Amino acid sequence: MKEQLQNLRNYFNTGATKKYLFRIEQLKKISFALKKYEKEILIALHTDLGKCEAEAYASEIAIVQNEIKFFIKQLKRLMQPKEVSTNLMNLPGKSKIYYEPLGIVLIIAPWNYPFQLAFNPLVGAIAAGNCVVVKPSEFANATSLIMEKIVKEIFSEDYIYLVQGDGAQIVPTIIEEGSINHVFYTGSTSVGKLIYEMAAKKLIPVTLELGGKSPCVIEDDANLKIAAKRVVIGKFINAGQTCIAPDYLLIHKKIKAKFLEILISTIQSFYTNNAALSKDYGKIINEKRFNTLISFLQQGKIIYGGKYDKESLYIEPTIMQEIPTNAPINHEEIFGPILPIFDFETQSEAVEIIKQNATPLAFYIFTSSTTKEENWINAIPFGGGCINNTAYHFTNHHLPFGGIGLSGIGSYHGKKSFYTFTHAKPVLKSATWFDPNIKYPPFKGKLRWLKMILKL
Ligand code: NAD
Repeated sequence: MKEQLQNLRNYFNTGATKKYLFRIEQLKKISFALKKYEKEILIALHTDLGKCEAEAYASEIAIVQNEIKFFIKQLKRLMQPKEVSTNLMNLPGKSKIYYEPLGIVLIIAPWNYPFQLAFNPLVGAIAAGNCVVVKPSEFANATSLIMEKIVKEIFSEDYIYLVQGDGAQIVPTIIEEGSINHVFYTGSTSVGKLIYEMAAKKLIPVTLELGGKSPCVIEDDANLKIAAKRVVIGKFINAGQTCIAPDYLLIHKKIKAKFLEILISTIQSFYTNNAALSKDYGKIINEKRFNTLISFLQQGKIIYGGKYDKESLYIEPTIMQEIPTNAPINHEEIFGPILPIFDFETQSEAVEIIKQNATPLAFYIFTSSTTKEENWINAIPFGGGCINNTAYHFTNHHLPFGGIGLSGIGSYHGKKSFYTFTHAKPVLKSATWFDPNIKYPPFKGKLRWLKMILKL
């Protein structure tokens, strides 16, 4: 590993990765490979998570292709040094910000969107001119293997190095070695804390894209049919294993019964009344996660679904209520196809429930009132979110994506990715033809003039 990291450093030091044309060429190589290996990627995602082709294409490949498209269009402009104003004290002079790559970036990815969550930050890191170590999840093995095949085929190992295996063993070795310039981690909050600790010892900056319990509020004036469709797709896509899935619903008492009726009929219209046979419904990643989810099913009253099959790692889309406050399902991120519901009459009642798990990664509000919309956005600190939708904010690369507090540090996507993987290097250029004595000792009698010049 040490030697490999040294090779990456040597390559970075040649300056090759800094050049605009080089970066564009690498991005095009990825785009081309995604087309060439599209079928293999889709098969791998089906093997690992039972994702159907349309879902896998839209939520994994298309997102990466869009990010590449964005950079091919915008990279030249983003890389251009930007002239900014110069303050009175520094006139005559000019101020510029140069955009420098960070060096070697370590990207650590999870298993739930195993392709996209490794390749999307990879695209950003390449666009910003870095060398990269990619560590995919060991739990989405088929996808990790096709990613390795692509990376090895299109990149030299001295530029982009993909390393497989158990994160708990490999990641500390890479970080402790000390030559990484930035760690970009996506995964659970508990592992995120370990990564932060390891990186802190070497003063390595981090971006942490973590998890949490994302609430979804259905107000009494919401369009219930639309809300049901958008809640069901956001919650049950990838069998609920989505970091920004609505974790639980807060439904206004007035419309609760009606909304539940529509919600259940929507689940059936998407996945039939036997989701086990639906080609559009995924499976749980492994037995460990399956067992945790099954334990959640015992912690309240199931009002829809609840069937499961260990052999095929299937859990039916499930709705639960009457969950005791201290039940683990109320405090741990569910990350599976189980949707607890709570009701409320006033906003403050709902806020109290949300506050039990502060700083969610995402927040969703369904309402037709712009006043309620604003009230909700002001009431809850959250990473990002949607009004009258769920999860789709992730797909707009013009919006930075990231958490707050326990759901993460930093953000990425589109131009925010470029800045995440770039050092903004400010430089002041001072003129030499003017050099007033007032700036230099002896200062006796100069303070009054200084205050006048500085307008203080
Ligand atoms: P995880 O934390 O178990 O693993 C993620 C990565 O970390 C893997 O590559 C793994 O090998 C590595 N890893 C595991 N243990 C490690 C250790 N001790 N030291 C160093 N590296 C280690 O996460 P997961 O179970 O793969 O993913 C699920 C979690 O990720 C959920 O909480 C979900 O909300 C979150 N998530 C967040 C986002 C986001 O964008 N914010 C996206 C997807 C998933």
